[in-house]
Amino acid sequence: MKHPLHIYNTLTRTKEQFIPLHERHVGMYVCGPTVYGDAHLGHARPAITFDLLFRYLKHLGYKVRYVRNITDVGHLEHDADEGEDKIAKKARLEQLEPMEVVQFYLNRYRKAMDALNVQPPSIEPHASGHIIEQIELVKEILNNGYAYESEGSVYFDVEKYNKKHKYGILSGRNVEDMMNTTRELEGQEEKHNPVDFALWKSAQPEHIMRWPSPWSNGFPGWHCECTAMGRKYLGKHFDIHGGGMDLIFPHHECEIAQAVASQDDDMVHYWMHNNMITINGQKMGKSLGNFITLDEFFTGNHAMLTQAYSPMTIRFFILQAHYRSTVDFSNEALQASEKGLSRLMDSYRHLLKLQPSATSSVEVKEIRAKCYEALNDDLNSPVTIAYLFDACRTINTVKDGNGTLSAEDIQELKDVYQLFLVDILGMKDETSGDGRNHEAFGKAMDLLLNIRQEAKANKDWATSDKIRDELTAIGFEIKDAKNGTEWKIN
Ligand code: ZN
Repeated sequence: MKHPLHIYNTLTRTKEQFIPLHERHVGMYVCGPTVYGDAHLGHARPAITFDLLFRYLKHLGYKVRYVRNITDVGHLEHDADEGEDKIAKKARLEQLEPMEVVQFYLNRYRKAMDALNVQPPSIEPHASGHIIEQIELVKEILNNGYAYESEGSVYFDVEKYNKKHKYGILSGRNVEDMMNTTRELEGQEEKHNPVDFALWKSAQPEHIMRWPSPWSNGFPGWHCECTAMGRKYLGKHFDIHGGGMDLIFPHHECEIAQAVASQDDDMVHYWMHNNMITINGQKMGKSLGNFITLDEFFTGNHAMLTQAYSPMTIRFFILQAHYRSTVDFSNEALQASEKGLSRLMDSYRHLLKLQPSATSSVEVKEIRAKCYEALNDDLNSPVTIAYLFDACRTINTVKDGNGTLSAEDIQELKDVYQLFLVDILGMKDETSGDGRNHEAFGKAMDLLLNIRQEAKANKDWATSDKIRDELTAIGFEIKDAKNGTEWKIN
């Protein structure tokens, strides 16, 4: 490789040449989903970002062990207001075993990732399956004097740690500032200091997910799982740790502190973070009504969506932005991605049918090198895609009879498309298969419901009732809402 891969390290805040710890072997850990709800657009971005990295590292000839955990021990930190573990709450409300809730959403998550053509990681460890490792980690931190026990819980002593090491190196936060701005919260008197974080929590009686430990029947603090499982599967030092930018603080900051407090140095060489997705400039959130699940995108079944978007449109849309830039969702932006992707895919199909000439009137040799250069520059997927659009224009010129390509150059373009578009960016042709089916299905439902709306507007109740009743008989639930008709399959 003429030009080595450089990645932006959040810790050093610079682009650094990637040099693995062990020649040709790369250890990579990415914080995975919390499985107590359906996968949404926010889940798609880290999955696709690190899928691109995983694919590219493998293409460069590395043997990659990619670990992506499953957070199935719901955490109080996620839902301080409600004060109850989210998985436990759902299990209690629906009278399910907590593991049933986890498995249900995990199956759905995997299906959505598969639709997005995200390759499964090498290992997907469950936090609930690694309680022993997490207890061992807490013991080490206690033994080294960086934690204390209080009422059956164990807390990390941030102030003490900060005297010798620096707490806040990843996020750039300052402990004194944090102590001055953090208000003492009710029910946190167990902590010596409000900035301290839980390594082990004693469980309240209503808490279903609990395990025995030397301190209490309880459950590990959220940050412990990634430190314990990263070390178990990738060793005391590994190459890359990734996740969304929203995890930098407190999650990853606490992971660094836990690693240093237990083994005296950080485990991670390159910290990588993808930026967030906003919807019309706003953060996604259930209370804001702009929370759209991936299934809703694939079928178009959400009030904010004007149409269905195929999984490849979503993937392409995400890759058209650099992973460290924000991405703002809108129907217009997704429609532009859909058009762009179909232009690229059409040109690929034309390319496969192109008749070679004796010589080429256009230059295609540079595209490959340029695509490599872009990817090597901190995985710059939008620039890579721009070069593929150059190839697309060249193909169209030749197809329209305004240029020629030799057999050798046609082959080169085929190889470049296959390598960058299909293998590395992970785009697949959706003119047949699942994605297309989803999209067509969503559009057919829209058509049917629009006919029903028109019938209602014309006071043709017989037709509108017939459509509703027969859809209900097939197993659909049709609900008239303020801004249109909502549907789901029961
Ligand atoms: Zn994590």
